[in-house]
Amino acid sequence: MKNIELGVNTICTHIGEVEDKQFKGAISPLFMTNSYAYENVEVLRYPRYFNTPNQEALCKKIAALEKTEAGLIFGSGMAAVSTALLAFLNNGDHVVVQNTIYGGAYNFIVEEFPKYGIEFDFTDGFSKEDFSSKIKTNTKVIYVETPSNPLMKITDLEMISRLAKERNLVSLIDNTFASPINQTPSDFGIDVMIHSATKYLGGHSDICAGAVAASNEHIEKIWNVAKNLGGSLSEYTVWLLERSMKTLAIRVKAHNKNAKKIAKWLHKNPLVNHVYYPGLKSHPNYKLAKKQMNGFTGMLSFELNESVNSDTFLKSLELIKPSMSLAGVESTILAPSKTSHALLGEEERKNQGISEGLLRLSVGIEDRKDLISDLKQAFEKSNI
Ligand SMILES: *Cc1c(COP(=O)(O)O)cnc(C)c1O
Repeated sequence: MKNIELGVNTICTHIGEVEDKQFKGAISPLFMTNSYAYENVEVLRYPRYFNTPNQEALCKKIAALEKTEAGLIFGSGMAAVSTALLAFLNNGDHVVVQNTIYGGAYNFIVEEFPKYGIEFDFTDGFSKEDFSSKIKTNTKVIYVETPSNPLMKITDLEMISRLAKERNLVSLIDNTFASPINQTPSDFGIDVMIHSATKYLGGHSDICAGAVAASNEHIEKIWNVAKNLGGSLSEYTVWLLERSMKTLAIRVKAHNKNAKKIAKWLHKNPLVNHVYYPGLKSHPNYKLAKKQMNGFTGMLSFELNESVNSDTFLKSLELIKPSMSLAGVESTILAPSKTSHALLGEEERKNQGISEGLLRLSVGIEDRKDLISDLKQAFEKSNI
């Protein structure tokens, strides 16, 4: 059977396994060693070479899901982001970066690139003109993230890929929010897909990991930098991530379904000013999201009306946990102004449309009626 013919649930369950030749166990055995023979072997294996049996197997699963030739697994999403960017950027090069990206990626670029003599410009918006106007003669990379955090803005992947090809740039996307189930950017010609596997790929709020998927040629470039930077993932966590990814497709579909219903419920709620969810017809990029996504994710944001006290609202929730991070099977919620976007300062937050009453909800896979009851009682308690 060729991978290309397999359904997504079969890929999640079966592609990229370590065959247990000794005992014929049904799942991948875990090779918990950092020391492999060097004589009479085809490859020199070492955890930081990203090529132990468990790592190699899991890379195949990621690559199959992203429809690329190869993949790499990292110790965190930021190890994946930093290594991938540094693989394509040298001293004197320039990168065009979408204006709203994950805070950690923003800090990495702003704090580290000047040390390496790498130039960067952030776009003013999401249109073709916003991106193309920032391209310079030394631009090598275009970096995007869609849907964006926390306002769920959508970047046109076909437009980005065309622009990158016209101007001979490598296009990189942080595909974390969508997951490969909801969005396969390689279908639109994007070169390199990056994930914080801490989120949907892991999905149980228990591990920190990252992943990259791309062509053999691009992965080789990334690997050359990866082995120097050393951001590999420990074997046990590789094994846990493989286990988690077996249920990725069914989990993500459950997240999608719950979030869409909850977004609709919030949209109708008079105590909510605005709901940001690409699966709602009221979202300004609904059509684009529909074109390039298979589902709209479990992530949404909503702005409380002035008559709701957001602290009381968060404290009143019983099932939905106010906490950092996202994309676990359990629903979590946070106020970006006090957490992920606190360092931006009030002025910049205002520019980006992140108000004090904005809440980002990561919808889990619990029963929808229970999540809605929880939200309902929290609204009742916090409506002043
Ligand atoms: C969490 C996150 C990252 C960083 O991943 P870590 O695993 O925390 O290093 C990068 N991009 C996005 C969109 C994220 O949500």
